[in-house]
Amino acid sequence: MDDPTVHSSLGKSIAQVYTKEFQKRRLPDVHFLIVLRAADKFSTSQLIDKFVRAEITSSIENLRLHEIVTKCVMHGPCGIDNLGAPCMEEAQCKKMVPKEFRTGTTMNVSIYPLYRRCPNDTTFVGGREMDNRFVVFYNPYLLLKYNAHINVEICTSLRAVKYIYKYIYKGFDCAIMVLSAGIVQYNDIANYIDARYVSASEARWRLLGSHMHDRSHAVMRLPVHLPNQKRVTFKDGHEEEALDIARSRQTMLESWFQLNQSDPDAQTLLNTDIPYNYVHYHNNWKRRKRGGNKIVARMYVLNVKDAERLYLRTLLLHVLGAASFKFVRMLTTSFMTL
Ligand SMILES: [Zn+2]
Repeated sequence: MDDPTVHSSLGKSIAQVYTKEFQKRRLPDVHFLIVLRAADKFSTSQLIDKFVRAEITSSIENLRLHEIVTKCVMHGPCGIDNLGAPCMEEAQCKKMVPKEFRTGTTMNVSIYPLYRRCPNDTTFVGGREMDNRFVVFYNPYLLLKYNAHINVEICTSLRAVKYIYKYIYKGFDCAIMVLSAGIVQYNDIANYIDARYVSASEARWRLLGSHMHDRSHAVMRLPVHLPNQKRVTFKDGHEEEALDIARSRQTMLESWFQLNQSDPDAQTLLNTDIPYNYVHYHNNWKRRKRGGNKIVARMYVLNVKDAERLYLRTLLLHVLGAASFKFVRMLTTSFMTL
C-alpha cells in the first residue's frame, strides 16, 4: 500500500481512503482510492494506456507479465459457457463481462474511461480460450512486482468514493442457517440464527488490532443553525436535562462567534477556514499546532425549503470574523443599502 502512496508509483498522491474486507476463506481484499495531485492526473488516453491496461500482454512482449495476467486478472470464465460462475445472475454476468473490443482508449469524463481491448490477444484459463474482453484492469508495474490480484482503475466520478465507503458500512458477512431436521415448522426464532462469519485470516487480523479502514483526511462538518435553534438530542423523560446541557455548551458556530470577539487572527478567516487553523476542543476553538492540512471542512448541505438556515449558510460563506448572529445580520443590511 506504500507503493502508490509513499513511493508514488502511479503519481504523487495527495489523499487516500481504503477499506479491507474478508471474503470467507481468502486473504483480505483492499479497496483503495487514491487522489493524485493535479499535475499527475491521467488527462490523456496515452497516459491512461501507460498506467492502466485491460489487455493480455503477449507472451512474446513479456512472458512473466503474460503469465501473471492469465493467473491473476482474468475474469471468469462466465457467461453461457459457465452459467454456474459466482458472478452470474439470471444468465447474465453481474460485472457485465465480456466487455466490448475497442481499438483505442477513450476518456469518459463523467464515469470511467473506456479502455483499449484489441481482438488479437488470447490466453487459456481453465482450458478455455479467453480474449481481451475478459481482462480486469491492471497496472503492469504493480502486477510484475507483486505477482498478485491487483486491479487498478481510473475513477473520474464521485461514484467511486461511494463504492469505497459502502464497504465501511456494509456490516459483517452473515449466514442464515436452519438447524432442524425433518419437517420444517415455520418459526422465525427457531429457524433463523443471526450468525456472523469470521474466517481464520480475519480473526487473526482483528486479534492483532490491525486497521480495517483508514483515510488520509478527516472531514469536519460545520453546523449551521439559527439563534436558539441548535440541535438537542435527548432520551425519553430526560428532556429538561438535555436542554440544560445544550444551554451550557456552545456549538461550533457559537464558539466561532466567541473566538472572533477576542482573536484578531480569526477575524481574517471565514467560518469554513477555521478548522484548518483551529481545533475544536471542549466547546472552544483553540489554535492548531499541526494537522490542518489533513482536514476537509464542509458546512452541512441545506434544503432550499429550509430558507432561513440556507440564507444564513450563504452569508457564512462570505462573512469574515463574525462575532454574533447580529453581526451576520448587519452585513445583510449593509448589502441591501449597497
Ligand atoms: Zn462474470
